[in-house]
Amino acid sequence: MSQCCGSKSVPVPISKTTSKPASSHDDLSVAIIGGGPIGLAAAAHLVTRGESFILFEASAQIAGNVNQWGHVRVFSPWQYNMDNAAKQLLEATDWQSPNEQAFPTGRELIDEYLSPLSELPSIKPFIHYNTEVVAVTRKGLSKVKTTGRAEQPFVLHVQQGDQLLKYQAKAVIDASGTWATPNPAVSEGIWTREEQLLNSHISYGIPDVLGRDMERFAGKNVLVVGSGHSAINTLLDLERLQEREPLTSITWVIRKSNVADVYGGQQSDALRERGVLGIRLQHLVESGKISVYTSFLIEHFEKNEAQVNVLGTVNGETIGIYGLDEVISNTGSRPNLSFLREVRINIDSDIESVGALAPLIDPNVHSCGTVRPHGEIELRQPDHNFYIVGSKSYGRAPTFLMATGYEQVRSIVAALTGDWEAAENVELDLPETGVCSVNKSVQLSSSLSSRQPADNQSESTCSTTSSESGSSCCS
Ligand SMILES: Cc1cc2nc3c(=O)[nH]c(=O)nc-3n(C[C@H](O)[C@H](O)[C@H](O)COP(=O)(O)OP(=O)(O)OC[C@H]3O[C@@H](n4cnc5c(N)ncnc54)[C@H](O)[C@@H]3O)c2cc1C
Repeated sequence: MSQCCGSKSVPVPISKTTSKPASSHDDLSVAIIGGGPIGLAAAAHLVTRGESFILFEASAQIAGNVNQWGHVRVFSPWQYNMDNAAKQLLEATDWQSPNEQAFPTGRELIDEYLSPLSELPSIKPFIHYNTEVVAVTRKGLSKVKTTGRAEQPFVLHVQQGDQLLKYQAKAVIDASGTWATPNPAVSEGIWTREEQLLNSHISYGIPDVLGRDMERFAGKNVLVVGSGHSAINTLLDLERLQEREPLTSITWVIRKSNVADVYGGQQSDALRERGVLGIRLQHLVESGKISVYTSFLIEHFEKNEAQVNVLGTVNGETIGIYGLDEVISNTGSRPNLSFLREVRINIDSDIESVGALAPLIDPNVHSCGTVRPHGEIELRQPDHNFYIVGSKSYGRAPTFLMATGYEQVRSIVAALTGDWEAAENVELDLPETGVCSVNKSVQLSSSLSSRQPADNQSESTCSTTSSESGSSCCS
C-alpha cells in the first residue's frame, strides 16, 4: 500500500506519509474493498502469490453482511463454500476442515472458515475494520481526464470513525457485495417517502424471527414481500413462530402469477437443501397457514395509526392489505455504485452487473446459478486494474454463488501478478443446480436486440423454475 514495500509491512494512510512518484506503483499494494467470502478469498490468493494487499471492511468484524444473516442455513455444502487458496493457507495451520458435505449456517461459515482465515498472520495485519470506502479515484484526476490515467495509482478515500483517510493502491478489487443496499418493496423500484418514513415497521433482509428479533414479530400481523430464497426462509421461520405464538398471522405477496413457480425444483433440485425449502413452502401454503396474494404489485404504503396499510394492484384492480404490524421486504438488493462515481466502469444498464456478465446471468433469461466460467477478461473494467467481483459483479441478479466468486478472484490475482496463462485458464466447479430454465422467447429477442424482459417481473430469486426444466441453462 501507499508508501511501503514488501508483503510483510503494514500499510499506512498516505496522509501520514510522503508521496511516491506516480509512475512507480510496484511498491503499492492491491486494495480489496469488503471482507466477505470473496474479498477474503482475494486476500488469500494475493498472499499465495506473494503480493501485498490491504483490505477495508466496513463493519467491526469479518464478513459483516454474512453476519446479518448468520441464522440462515445456506443451500450449498461446505465443499463449494471454501476457496482453494484459502483452504491451503488454513491447512498449513491446526485448522480443522468442516465436513465438506454438510450445510453451514452463515454463522458457521464465519466461525469455522472466514474468521480463522482472517486471523492468519499473513492476512490479519492487513485488514482494516470499521473502515468504509467512500470514494475511489485516480490520483489527481477526475473521471473525465484520460491523459496519463493508467499511470496514476488509485486513491481509496475511507471513513474510519470521524476520520477521512486516503490510501493509494496499484489495483482495486471491489468485493463489497449488495446486501447493505436492498431494493425497496414498491414494485417500480423507487424509494418512496412513505416507505422510508415507515422504516420502523419495515425490515429488509432476513430478520431472525426465531431468535434476536422474535419479540418484534411474535403475535403480530406480518406481511412478507418477494419470492426468492430469502422470502422462503422468512416464511418458514414465521410459521415456526406461529406454532409458538398462534396469534402471529402471515400474509405473503408476490409478483409472480403462479405460486408454484416459487417452489422451484423441489425433489429434482440437485441442491438438496434448496429443494427442501420449496417442498416445505408448498406444504405451508396448502395448509392455509399463510394468505397468499399473487400478481400483486405494491404501489404504496400508508400509516394506519400504529399499523401500516399496503396498497397495490392485482391485474389492474386496486387492492389494499390493511392493519399490518410488520412488513418484511425480501425483494433482493442492488449494488452500491455511489463510491465508484470517479472510476471508469462498465455496468450493464438493465441489471447493474459487470457489463460482460449480463448476458450470462440476466434473471429475465436464466433462472439458475450456473454460469459459464469467467475471469479477468470478462471482469476487466475500462479503468485499468480495477475490478468488481463477488455478488456485486452480478448487480441485481440474485443467482450468485460463492464458488463463482472464488474463481473470479483467482483469475484476477493471477493476471495482476503477471501469470496470464493461469488468468485465462478459467474453470468453474459449481454445485449442480438441477432444474434450470432459459426463457427462450427472451433469449431469442435478446439475440435480435438487447435483452428485453418478457414480463418485467423478475424478482429476487435464486430459484429454479419448472418451466422448460432441464435445459442447459447458462452452461
Ligand atoms: C441468505 C443468503 C444465503 C446464501 N446462500 C448461498 C449458498 O448456499 N451458496 C452460495 O454459494 N452462495 C449463497 N449466497 C450468495 C452469496 O454467495 C453470498 O451473499 C456471499 O456472502 C457473497 O459474498 P461477497 O463477498 O461477494 O459479498 P458479502 O458477503 O456481501 O461481503 C461484502 C463485504 O463488504 C463490506 N462492505 C460493503 N461496503 C463496503 C465499503 N464501502 N467499504 C468497506 N467494506 C464494505 C461488507 O461489510 C461485507 O462484509 C447466499 C446469500 C444470502 C443472502
